[in-house]
Amino acid sequence: MKKIIGVLCALAVFLCAGTLVFAASEDVPGFVRVGIGQYSCSLYYVTFLEGFAVYEYGGGEISLIESYPDVTRVELVCDAGYINVYDEFGEELFISYGDTSQYFVGSTDMENGTFTEGGRNWRGGLMLHRCGLGYSYINVLSLEKYLYGVLPKEMSASYPSEALKAQAVCARSYAARMVLSGGKHSAQGYDVCTSQDCQVYGGMGCESPRCSSAVSETTGMLVYYNGAPVSCYYSANNGGFIESGLEIWGGASGYLQAKKDDFNPADNWEVTYTDEKLRSLLRTAGFNVGNIQKVQVTKRSSGGSVLELVVTGDAGTATIGRDRIRSVLGSNSVRSLKFDIVDNGYETVTKTVREPVEKESTIVLDQYYVLARTGEVRVLNLNEVVANSLSDNLVIKKAETVTVEKTVQEKSGYDGIRISGKGYGHGVGMSQTGAREMASRGYGFADILQYYFTDVTVQ
Ligand SMILES: [Zn+2]
Repeated sequence: MKKIIGVLCALAVFLCAGTLVFAASEDVPGFVRVGIGQYSCSLYYVTFLEGFAVYEYGGGEISLIESYPDVTRVELVCDAGYINVYDEFGEELFISYGDTSQYFVGSTDMENGTFTEGGRNWRGGLMLHRCGLGYSYINVLSLEKYLYGVLPKEMSASYPSEALKAQAVCARSYAARMVLSGGKHSAQGYDVCTSQDCQVYGGMGCESPRCSSAVSETTGMLVYYNGAPVSCYYSANNGGFIESGLEIWGGASGYLQAKKDDFNPADNWEVTYTDEKLRSLLRTAGFNVGNIQKVQVTKRSSGGSVLELVVTGDAGTATIGRDRIRSVLGSNSVRSLKFDIVDNGYETVTKTVREPVEKESTIVLDQYYVLARTGEVRVLNLNEVVANSLSDNLVIKKAETVTVEKTVQEKSGYDGIRISGKGYGHGVGMSQTGAREMASRGYGFADILQYYFTDVTVQ
């Protein structure tokens, strides 16, 4: 049986065929759209072990449009403005006109069912959203099952279970905010991406029983501030000081306050850049400063993160703000913004050197002898010296060379700069290694979240 849905008849279809299959509390969306790729190809073969269904997605919930429990392998054909779904015999089952992004194909069991596409296994369903010249390839699945694929990528499965549970609540809160607020990827048709830009998602292939248990044991729990769920930010290691969200990113965020972290273990790193390498990185980032003369930290957060770096050269100056410092220098090398420039080859240093100088010394004589042309020597009575009567002494000056200490300024001699830092990531919110430390000392997941996020509740 062929199902046709167009823009004009969508409402009618909604009324006759739309059935809400899952409902969640208003703060916890039931489903999330994860952007797992971007392709230009418009033909996809998808296999659903439990049979497939067509759903409509809206605001974190899904509605069943039509179910095909006996069809396991389908062919999706996409082009500008429509999606066609065929069975393996080429029979057209479903056509969507207009905004194709709201419809998707999924397992008849969207909570537990899986599908295979291109040799990869996924939970839930597959949505295609026209984006630019190609399509966003989107995995639509239950929010809780999505977290199964996030936790092992964001925290080691070997961490204590209370740390894993804190991470599960953080990841759920972040994703819930992205779904309910429209998110930064709405133009691409999904709520979260699979990279560190949002939180890393590895699909079914990365799931781990310990991580899945941490998700199940905290099902539906979010972090609340002033009665509303909040995005819980986290990083690997904050270098010993929790950063303020306001200072690092701007914008009001009362639950992301700065304070010293008593649990975060030390994580020191060091990186060097030669003059040539630094110039090349700056050029790539669009800064041409010529021969570099000076690299200076000109602004810091209260927690010690570098908020502004100024590079001065003979052809110009580059002022690099907090948002670009790590990407310009390489975020894998400069692991956090908590760093010092410990050796700056371009800057002049003051030091003391020893060096010879000419010195005048004075010899004072109080008794004089006169050697006459005749060879006669006799003591001269000063009263006899009429021409020099102004002075009682005869002064003779002589020059000699002595060594003295002197302060001079010169280049440090280092080829490039050496940066010494601590921590890994932005340092705002929860430190994952700090959470591990707290859990190992007996704190529960709610204690951990309330330590890292100011004045929040976990429910
Ligand atoms: Zn993202």
